[in-house]
Amino acid sequence: MVENNLVKEFVSLVAVEDFEQRYAKDIYEDKFFGMPLAPIVSCEKKLREKQSQSVAYFSMEYGLATSFYNCFQSSQPIDPKNYNEEQEVFSNYPLADYFFTFKLNTLIDLPIYSGGLGVLAGDTIKTMADYAMPAVAVGVLWNSGYFRQRFWYKHGQLPAKTYWEPASYPGLVPLKNKIKLLLRNQQLWLRIWKYYVYSYRGDYCLPLILLDANIPENSERDRRLTDQLYRSDDARIKIMQRVILGMGGVMALKEMGYSVSRYHMNEGHAVFSFIEAARGLSQQQIEALTNQFVYTCHTPVEAGHDRFHSEELKAVLLDEDFSLCERYGLEKPAVINLTLLAMNVSSSVNAVSKKHGEVMHLQFPQYKDKIKYITNGVHSHTWMSPAFQQLLNKYKDVLGDFQTNPMGLEQIKHLAANVEFRQQLWQAHQENKRYLCQLLSKWKFDVNVFTICWARRFAAYKRPSLLMQDVRRLVAISKKIGPLQIIIAGKAHPKDRAGFSFINHMMDKIDGLTENYDTLKIVMPENYEIGLARILTSSVDLWLNNPLPPFEASGTSGMKAVLNGVVQLSTLDGWMVEAQDKNIGKTFGYTNPPGSIGDERELHMSDDAKQLYIALEEMAQMYYAANLGGQVNYNSQWLDLMINCLIAAGYFNTYRMLDQYKQQIYRIL
Ligand SMILES: *Cc1c(COP(=O)(O)O)cnc(C)c1O
Repeated sequence: MVENNLVKEFVSLVAVEDFEQRYAKDIYEDKFFGMPLAPIVSCEKKLREKQSQSVAYFSMEYGLATSFYNCFQSSQPIDPKNYNEEQEVFSNYPLADYFFTFKLNTLIDLPIYSGGLGVLAGDTIKTMADYAMPAVAVGVLWNSGYFRQRFWYKHGQLPAKTYWEPASYPGLVPLKNKIKLLLRNQQLWLRIWKYYVYSYRGDYCLPLILLDANIPENSERDRRLTDQLYRSDDARIKIMQRVILGMGGVMALKEMGYSVSRYHMNEGHAVFSFIEAARGLSQQQIEALTNQFVYTCHTPVEAGHDRFHSEELKAVLLDEDFSLCERYGLEKPAVINLTLLAMNVSSSVNAVSKKHGEVMHLQFPQYKDKIKYITNGVHSHTWMSPAFQQLLNKYKDVLGDFQTNPMGLEQIKHLAANVEFRQQLWQAHQENKRYLCQLLSKWKFDVNVFTICWARRFAAYKRPSLLMQDVRRLVAISKKIGPLQIIIAGKAHPKDRAGFSFINHMMDKIDGLTENYDTLKIVMPENYEIGLARILTSSVDLWLNNPLPPFEASGTSGMKAVLNGVVQLSTLDGWMVEAQDKNIGKTFGYTNPPGSIGDERELHMSDDAKQLYIALEEMAQMYYAANLGGQVNYNSQWLDLMINCLIAAGYFNTYRMLDQYKQQIYRIL
């Protein structure tokens, strides 16, 4: 029996399945899995008020960093599958690879993301919670996550399933509510799960609704629709995954009784939300509905724009729904383009950096007036390491309350000449780097050796193997200037052959460098995920980013690095174009001709690799001028760059970003 008033109220608002038996031990008195329960009750009430003016954020994926940020506790045993496993490493020190692994001793992050898009979605909704915005997020419960990357010794990537147990993931609760999607010749049932995303202070929260087709009401085949994120086996599965997010999402919001003023589609994946909301409306009402929809486009890359044949859509959708898709999304006869559909049904369309805005204008000239840009950011509370938070807390008199207002980080310019600050900054960085070196101690990582990292998804346009084009040059630099430690990590989509071949190619090259291990250490840890991203972005000396311009819409990993004073080496693309004058490192390489986006298959590898080595050599020189085997020159140029990084973080964060969304896109609050 539910005794406590707050819990009673919670249960009346949120119909948790199996509450008494399973969840009452973690949701009791004023607690929800160790976090305060009151904010849940108040946000659930607020979202149901007619005048609530809330935003519903739709995204196929969410990277919430639940393993280390605002963690829930559970009094129940947690399934071992929800903990990180041992990770293997492929390096040019095979003896260590053979005998050792490393392990992050945490829960896995909620495995419902694949990469940067999901992390941005997570960072965005966390910032909405910090801003106490009335908002709700909608996504999908991926029963087998994205995939677990294993290495197949020397032969590349072996994708495996992620096994996890949603029912024993702390803070994730299944509801009794189920919804039924009406499709052509079939219905699909979806169960609703909820997860609460708290503000960093824990005093406010917003619900994340996750849709799940893995329930007995559905056929075996349909139960697997919410199995793995971005399955691309066939068109039906792709369409159904998008239908679940969009249509299922809008139905779930209605089922919850939330009143929504803005539907924010994070990528075209979510566009069926409009189709669901428009069903049964008159033409005039449909036009009015577009005022409530806004759309953010995240990539200029072809593969990021879904196109379906009319017949494929017709096979799934009801006639009325299909005609709406055709009316707003027909690109050419019998081809429906979800990007066009999303642009046509939204009152506002935005790119995710200044440069991406220009690229979108070239790609979609007929929508030029509609397309704005808002540069991405990262959530500072998630991505700034504790060592840096402690350091900056000492300077609140200069920075103000930078935790509430990270734009205050710009004031670090007033500390640039402060010798004590420079020393403490270096120490904080070394503390982070020491942790990395401990993790890789079996690979003999040294805290005073120049350390470079490239880590993100292995998509062709990101050019993962650029640094490995001419390994003789790397060997030469390591002998001439000083030793190098290089970390490369990332997953290739299981169906992406180019991505696979990058991994194989690099492993071959690394394998040929075993003789050079004294001065040149190259390691590839498997299964790059948020937990590892957090460690790498805060602990290396140089963050390498070398996408082929103009195909990186924004990029965010470098922003995580600048929050931790990590210097950048990058091509001029995405967010880096706006950071160019901030002196946070070096830029190099090809840029697309003005007025043209060039060809994404023409990777310009050999020219850009040459430029990369020249730039890297200069950076190594600069690093060793600052740190020669632990002898630190605090007045060095390298420390200036580190300080400039922190100043830039005052701009490239989600608080500045969300301010702009509120003012230019949502325009309701
Ligand atoms: C931040 C992040 C990304 C995005 O990296 P980009 O350099 O922007 O492509 C990808 N994967 C993970 C796990 C991340 O944390």
